[in-house]
Amino acid sequence: MSGLYIHIPFCSYKCSYCNFYSIVNMNDNDTYKKYIESLIIELKLRIPNYKSEIETIYLGGGTPSILGADLLKYLLDNIFEIVNNHNKNKKLIKEITIESNINNIDNEYISYLESIENIRISLGLQTFNEKSLSIINRHTDKYDIINALKLINNSTLENISVDFICGLPLNTENQIKDDILFSLDLLPKIKHISLYYLELTQSLQKKWHNFLPNDEESVIFYKKASNTLEGLGFKRYEVSNYSLPNYNSIHNTNYWLLKDYIGIGVSAVGCYNNERYNNIKMLKDYFYSISKHQLPQQQIEYLDMEIKKKEFIFLSLRTIKGIDIKKYNYIFNEDFYHHYNKIIMNNKEYFNISIEYLSIKNYYFNYVDEISLLLL
Ligand code: SF4
Repeated sequence: MSGLYIHIPFCSYKCSYCNFYSIVNMNDNDTYKKYIESLIIELKLRIPNYKSEIETIYLGGGTPSILGADLLKYLLDNIFEIVNNHNKNKKLIKEITIESNINNIDNEYISYLESIENIRISLGLQTFNEKSLSIINRHTDKYDIINALKLINNSTLENISVDFICGLPLNTENQIKDDILFSLDLLPKIKHISLYYLELTQSLQKKWHNFLPNDEESVIFYKKASNTLEGLGFKRYEVSNYSLPNYNSIHNTNYWLLKDYIGIGVSAVGCYNNERYNNIKMLKDYFYSISKHQLPQQQIEYLDMEIKKKEFIFLSLRTIKGIDIKKYNYIFNEDFYHHYNKIIMNNKEYFNISIEYLSIKNYYFNYVDEISLLLL
């Protein structure tokens, strides 16, 4: 089982902290339509060489919701047809996630999402603090967010995820915790919350120096928000992700389990047949490559067993469950504990150690990258 990632690179504005490739202010339906046609061609080029069944679809960006209901329907109708022809088991796609921007939420958009089986909406809220939103150049104010959440609350949508960022300019100790509680007041149906640390370039760190909490403060704010979430029944299942029972993101969980996925679109990444590819980053080059019916990729990395082993360890340790020992021993044909015994014993204060799993203790979960390095 595996997934399909579709990258929509267009955004209405550029958030100051964003490092993703995104094309701002295009507002051109002809280009959007041409891009959708290209995505369909790319999927048709890739899918004959793809052996796994596709069980999840994820539209990320950029801002997928910028396409609007009609173009999204056109895109997804075509994608569903290709995927259904490919999948032998003919089961329904288990999860279709669409990242959505507050500014694009209206009745028409919601009605379309309501018509899709197993739809999951993912909303980037970041914060309700208007001064913070303005500094980071998010073109939404508190009332835009409130109105959008109320519209969703009146809909039949149930599988709802929201994102917040910790460590934003002007963050105070209770801001993120209060943001979470406020969003749940407005939209009690939220099932999944992603809580990220703000990552900044050095120049932005300098520019915002006077407004930013320091690293220690950010960790305290994060812990407070994390405790609030756990108190409300949201279980942390990955470093940055919390969910109510049965609402983990299936698509993202498959990444952490190192399952294959196709990525299509400008700058998308995909991974199958023991290769990881990066697609072309410029829109015009992407269009050109597709017009020649060539795969629009600029880089391919062969994933040998050593690379896979490192990724399996690194990604598994990001999850609460940790490394599935039986799975590791089976995939890599070696005894995990025999191989890593010395390192684990020398650093055992960081780990929960059992026959089935090796995971990082809750207390050290904020230092997952540093601790994983011990085993890599
Ligand atoms: S909306 Fe998302 S992808 Fe677009 S600029 Fe902002 S953070 Fe980046």
